Amino acid sequence: MAELERFRMLIGGEPVDAASGATFESQNPYTGEAWATVPDGGPADVDAAVTAARAALDGEWGQLTGFARAALLRRLADLITENAERLARLEVNDSGKLYREMIGQLTGLGGWYQYYAGLAATIEGRQIPTPNPNYLVYTRREPVGVVGAITPWNSPLLLLTWKLAPGLAAGCTFVVKPSEHSPASTLGFAELFAQAGFPPGVVNVVSGLSRETGAALAGHPGVDKIAFTGSTATGRAVAHAAAENLNKVTLELGGKSPQIVFPDADLQAAANGLVAGVFAATGQTCMAGSRLIVHADVHDELVRLVAARAAQIRLGDPNDPETEMGPVANRPQYEKVLGYLKTAESEGATVAYGGAADEGLGGLFVKPTVLTGVTAESTIVREEVFGPVLSAYTFTDEEDALKLANDTPYGLAGAVWTKDVHRAHRVAAKLRAGTVWINAYRVVSPSVPFGGFGLSGLGRENGVGALDEYLENKSVWVELTGGTRDPFTLG
Ligand code: NAD
Repeated sequence: MAELERFRMLIGGEPVDAASGATFESQNPYTGEAWATVPDGGPADVDAAVTAARAALDGEWGQLTGFARAALLRRLADLITENAERLARLEVNDSGKLYREMIGQLTGLGGWYQYYAGLAATIEGRQIPTPNPNYLVYTRREPVGVVGAITPWNSPLLLLTWKLAPGLAAGCTFVVKPSEHSPASTLGFAELFAQAGFPPGVVNVVSGLSRETGAALAGHPGVDKIAFTGSTATGRAVAHAAAENLNKVTLELGGKSPQIVFPDADLQAAANGLVAGVFAATGQTCMAGSRLIVHADVHDELVRLVAARAAQIRLGDPNDPETEMGPVANRPQYEKVLGYLKTAESEGATVAYGGAADEGLGGLFVKPTVLTGVTAESTIVREEVFGPVLSAYTFTDEEDALKLANDTPYGLAGAVWTKDVHRAHRVAAKLRAGTVWINAYRVVSPSVPFGGFGLSGLGRENGVGALDEYLENKSVWVELTGGTRDPFTLG
């Protein structure tokens, strides 16, 4: 057996083991074997990391101007690009994501830090008029403080970046807790901060096998804000913990996003968008377009097109550039997806393609699956699968389509496929979702807000507004006359 790659946590600028000395192994979902060993950090390590993050905030980092932070972010962006190949391999080994996708993601990741570097020096307060001319009043935008960032196993570095880039631009410091299923890429990534010149303690990373490690961070009294991406159930627990400390919180949670296809749509383009929406990344994305709501007149034709493309998808080694779909990222998730397929079958769904594991390949493979014969009440339509499963059902008019699309407690994303420009915008306006694509799917940018309505989350990542999630407002009143006033009246 090949020797395991060894990773260490980052606390106060030092590579460290867990205080307990414990470690755990990270599994490669394609080979099914352990490939890395990582520290099994716990509450004591979270304490040490929070202390380091606070010290950094109170130290050199807290004194830097936005211009200086921007320069560091730009250096980090360059280092990410230089190390894209290695970081992409770490992601592939850890989570089974395609190298083909991850190299693209990592090559583009620096763009997020460049974008927020551009904004770091633009953070400014306002001078505010008041009825009393004896005062000059201005506001200062100050960093919220120490941020606890808790991330999931799918796209760990991208989803972490959506927190770090605006947060560092705002002047915050971080304690990061990556998922126990894919901790190594974040530990590898953390090594770049010292190289970029960030002072020690600005970014700290604690890995841990137990969910208690994340819980210790979410409820830590030394933390000022929690930025979380993960499941809705955990998000709720995190929000409760943050509420105990009256902390700010942003939550990026699950989804059950609809793709509405009207009969006038370019069906080839829609089929391609459906494949991108639910089979790319093996469907393991929060924004997976897992509900196909298609006009009855084009249902059969569109299902035929998607099933035909699904049948051609190349499953296999995520490191092979020809591979289009890798394995499911971990065994619990694999069992969960297969469980949903069983439930769908027992509730009367018809399999247009797939519908089962692909055992011939070894590893945790599930065939890309297209289901028909489901209804708005089917479990597969109501619950997030987080796997390569598309469920198709029909509508006959626009109002009906919107009703079906919005009949979900989630509201992360959705798409409208039509050539009718009036209808496209009308439907986009009425979809209850944080992102709507028209004749497109699965496109994101540092400059465009992303987040959910309803159970899909709280707050927005990306875009100019994401900075506000990491900033406090301070009002400063300056007395201009040098005189005194009646101490027993207000104002
Ligand atoms: P998860 O909720 O199980 O875990 C997410 C993170 O929270 C992990 O690091 C975990 O260790 C930690 N955690 C677990 N219990 C905790 C607790 N009590 N307090 C604090 N932290 C705790 O999610 P997952 O299985 O890793 O990821 C899959 C889910 O993430 C899916 O539901 C998906 O929809 C969602 N997701 C959402 C987005 C988005 O941007 N909206 C993006 C990716 C994934």
